[in-house]
Amino acid sequence: MKKGIHPEYYEATVRCACGNTFTTGSTKEELRVEICSECHPFFTGRQKTAERGGRVEKFKKKYGLD
Ligand SMILES: [Zn+2]
Repeated sequence: MKKGIHPEYYEATVRCACGNTFTTGSTKEELRVEICSECHPFFTGRQKTAERGGRVEKFKKKYGLD
């Protein structure tokens, strides 16, 4: 194995605006992102959908009991 074939390829520390950090392969040692898997709308959207589902369950329960 030769060294130095990819001299500018690092295991970068990624810092997200939400405060989460993780590592990824990059040509930079440190990256800053505004969104990650912890706060990406796709994931938060799913959480909100789950919450909404919970509300529907409460709603049904309330009016079902009434
Ligand atoms: Zn994030």
